[in-house]
Amino acid sequence: MRLSRYFLPTLREDPAEAEVISHKLMLRAGMIRRLASGIYSFLPLGLRVLRKVERIVREEMDKAGALEVLLPLVQPAELWQETGRWDKFGKELLRFKDRKDHDFCLGPTHEEVITDLVRKEVRSYRDLPLILYQIATKFRDEIRPRFGLMRGREFIMKDAYSFDADEEGLNRSYELMYEAYEKIFNRCGLRFRAVLADTGAIGGDVSHEFMVLAETGEDVIASCPSCGYAANLEMAEATRRFSYPEEKEKPLQKVSTPGVKRAEEVAAFLGVPLAKLVKTLIYLVDGKPYAVLIRGDHELNEVKLRRALGAERVEMAGPEEVEKLTGAPVGFAGPIGLSRVTIIADRALEGLKNFVVGANEKDAHYVNANFSRDFKAEAFYDLRNVTEGDLCPRCGKPLTLTRGIEVGHIFKLGTKYSAAMGATFLDREGKERPLVMGCYGIGVSRTVAAAIEQNHDAQGIIWPLSLAPFHVALLTLGPQDDELMRASEALYQGLTQAGVEVLWDERDERPGVKFKDADLIGLPYKVVVGKKFKETGKVEVKPRAGEGLQLLSPEEAVNFLKEKVASQT
Ligand code: ATP
Ligand code: MG
Repeated sequence: MRLSRYFLPTLREDPAEAEVISHKLMLRAGMIRRLASGIYSFLPLGLRVLRKVERIVREEMDKAGALEVLLPLVQPAELWQETGRWDKFGKELLRFKDRKDHDFCLGPTHEEVITDLVRKEVRSYRDLPLILYQIATKFRDEIRPRFGLMRGREFIMKDAYSFDADEEGLNRSYELMYEAYEKIFNRCGLRFRAVLADTGAIGGDVSHEFMVLAETGEDVIASCPSCGYAANLEMAEATRRFSYPEEKEKPLQKVSTPGVKRAEEVAAFLGVPLAKLVKTLIYLVDGKPYAVLIRGDHELNEVKLRRALGAERVEMAGPEEVEKLTGAPVGFAGPIGLSRVTIIADRALEGLKNFVVGANEKDAHYVNANFSRDFKAEAFYDLRNVTEGDLCPRCGKPLTLTRGIEVGHIFKLGTKYSAAMGATFLDREGKERPLVMGCYGIGVSRTVAAAIEQNHDAQGIIWPLSLAPFHVALLTLGPQDDELMRASEALYQGLTQAGVEVLWDERDERPGVKFKDADLIGLPYKVVVGKKFKETGKVEVKPRAGEGLQLLSPEEAVNFLKEKVASQT
């Protein structure tokens, strides 16, 4: 592709709308443009990368025996009512009515649609196993769309669904998909890790997330270098028992804490360590009020809370509800004297004595509060995020925390959807049984962003060869010079015929501009045809990252790059 004929609107400055590096670089490199919050257009360069991810995904799905379909984005409410998710899914499900006043939604995921398709067509165990997949647009009306493609409202997902006769079959399909995911992210040239995950709104009992490792990731992975255990924060059990020093219970005392609300402020104001303070968080759990106690230096994990109570939904109570339930404004809630609220506590609090809590009164806290004597906690659960220093729940060695971006998520669903929707088959004995399902997602557009989060420097993107929009930036320095243009043209043809994708910068621009743009869009190799070529007949071949500048004849350059591309894509 000749750059002068290409549509590549690059930007010199960081756009104000972007917070994270992948978003900034995608805008600057002319890959995407924003249409509305969380909704983006792909420009030619961005689309080429998206297509590369799709191709790798498609090839590996096909190799695993999955069959491609294309399901509608617009879905009728009736299907979602059958599984109860029309009411449960919350506002991420964008609902609307057609002209006949029928309820519809835009598909955030396709379990209902695929289960409906399969229940109508699959009759017998002979039709199983079956894995169907699609690569298509999803819509989720996210509360906080942000970070460009990372958390969009409209985005591209690969979703696959497996149907088996029994648990054993499901285990095989799950294993097959797990292995396909490893191949996919390896082929994408990304450093990643599969971790144990919570099953959330999709449901089911076993689940793994595939995380691209990046310091900027929204997710935290707890992993054990000793035994290989890895889980996301929602799943990583905090097993550490704290042995608090033996202390006599001291008399409870109310103290004045004017305007001091945050745990850190209260601890500093009272001159106690943060770990001697207990936060009281008011939650609505399936609509029922709970006070959740957690140590001042720990963080509550809402997914653990939901799981501990076997609930569908947990939401933090708003300021008005907090005031109604505790009698005090936010910041002063405490367990003592709370009557209409169930009190539960994090396990790290077991054995803690003489701690500080809110007094359910504006500008007041209690010091020397104690369990049993002053209030009763109904139960202790593992509710906190593990931190540096926590131990592996499997082998007891210290855990390491790293950050990641969730690019894939696979679930064993079991019969949750097939039972609800009557998707059955006849087994060998002619007995009717529900299909056993799994589902498998990959955020295709998010993978593009994640690749950039993991691979960039101050100058721009550094594409892995397999995802790069083009393999080579061919820079002609001196496009007025016939000899240089002829040599470049020949090289362009030679490379193209060798299967190397070339973006040829033959614009009438200064060398500095060409190098800057090439670094920004991040093609894995630069081939420079300039002064050196005139002197020596050789071109410079330079990888985008790292050392390795070579002076090669045009033929050598073609062979070198052909070899690289063939071995890595
Ligand atoms: P998250 O926890 O990031 O919200 P999720 O658990 O809701 O993701 P799944 O339902 O498992 O996501 O969807 C499968 C994959 O789709 C995810 O692993 C992720 O890569 C991608 N994905 C989910 N939501 C978005 C989004 N808003 N924008 C882009 N990709 C997304
Ligand atoms: Mg997920």
